Amino acid sequence: MRTLVIVGSGPAGFYTAEAALKTFGDGVRIDMLDALPTPFGLIRAGVAPDHQSIKAVARRFAEVAEDPRVRFLGDVAVGRDIAVAELQELYHDVVLATGAPEDRCLGIPGEDLPGVIGSAAFVGWYNGHPAWADLKPPLDSAVVAIIGNGNVAIDCARILAKTEAELAPSDIAAHALDALRGSAVRSIRIVGRRGPHEASFTLKEVGELGELARATPLVRPGDLPPEAADAGLETGRRRVVGVLRRFAAQGPDSDKPVVIAFDFFRRPLRVLGDGRVAGLELMRTRVGPDGRAEDTGETEILPCGLVITAIGYRTAGIPGVPFDEALGRFSNEEGAIAPGLWCVGWARRGPTGTIGTNRQDGFGLVERLAATAARGERPGPAGLDRLLAGRGIRPVSFADWRRIEAVEAARARAGAPREKLVTLEALRAAARAEAAAAA
Ligand code: NAP
Repeated sequence: MRTLVIVGSGPAGFYTAEAALKTFGDGVRIDMLDALPTPFGLIRAGVAPDHQSIKAVARRFAEVAEDPRVRFLGDVAVGRDIAVAELQELYHDVVLATGAPEDRCLGIPGEDLPGVIGSAAFVGWYNGHPAWADLKPPLDSAVVAIIGNGNVAIDCARILAKTEAELAPSDIAAHALDALRGSAVRSIRIVGRRGPHEASFTLKEVGELGELARATPLVRPGDLPPEAADAGLETGRRRVVGVLRRFAAQGPDSDKPVVIAFDFFRRPLRVLGDGRVAGLELMRTRVGPDGRAEDTGETEILPCGLVITAIGYRTAGIPGVPFDEALGRFSNEEGAIAPGLWCVGWARRGPTGTIGTNRQDGFGLVERLAATAARGERPGPAGLDRLLAGRGIRPVSFADWRRIEAVEAARARAGAPREKLVTLEALRAAARAEAAAAA
């Protein structure tokens, strides 16, 4: 019997479990650990709350979790409650599927000022992640700068721009909806260090900005390269640039009070402010022959009261696991870290691609894993249970999670799928309530 422990229950973890079930059939037992009492990682805490169709994949993951060969053990943090070396003693294979939950730094002066917030924190806040529920981003200024030209920047802009009615059917956390109701934000600036041709937005995400109830997108026509140059772009990117051209041609809609402006060709130099953010000093750039941003020497000040950095993520290190500081992920060779120790998803390859990219990743990893011989006999799940019980750690099972899910569904606003519990205490209490009542 091959025993496998997967650390992290986001998309990469679940696709790996699905692949292992298909590959090993009845010859495998899988334990899936998560530091949170809740499963699904990025699906719950990263995917935008108004993109419910993307979250539907959680139903498929739940089928995997409820397979008799699989167990979910939430509220167990590897590196705190149990060491990776201990897991290696207990299981044939340890797969780190811990994603990339930490914000990358800009590395510029003023970055530590209150009012500079990484997208992991901001997204975690509106998605009700327990680590960020108390963030209280300052929404009392008219101008917000979002740095980065990827889909996360667009997610943040869209959530800031939407009306309460537009957000009502989403599962945005109540504290975020309350704060946004009183928001003074009227100008959302998406700051990119390169131009429209280099932006990594995708079509659906950029297109949605043209369909908002009270916000209108704005692109400076002068930032667009000559139209003939679009011919050299691959299809997806050409379509995105086509939408940006449409925004530039339309100009702002004067009936809408909020503007989402694309500030292309601007690199942040310094965050300004005394005690809190008051602005951003930007260097104007152009794209050089090597495709990189080059400084023009011309600078400008963008006054703003909140800066959100959406410039990519890093994996969190785990004691004893080799880490590539420059790349912000575990050091690995095609997913292999050491004999019996593997990584997958963003923890393997960095924070790029869609949810579905993790499927290929998970299946690819299991193929490699299956090609290596299992390392002797291992205590497996029973050994883990003994070790956790000895430490007084009580994991949240998938049945417990179903109780949390029921509580969240019951407290949802009208039309919303759930109202998330946002503290560890509340999640643990919901997980145990019915079990305790039945005992
Ligand atoms: P991303 O697509 O890699 O975008 C990061 C952006 O940050 C890039 O525009 C990059 O510019 C910029 N950047 C990096 N360092 C910078 C610096 N020091 N100063 C200024 N700008 C800097 O990453 P993401 O937006 O975090 O998204 C992560 C992944 O999740 C992506 O694959 C994304 O498509 C996916 N995602 C998908 C959805 C969806 O499908 N709805 C939603 C959210 C995220 P350069 O290009 O110049 O390096």
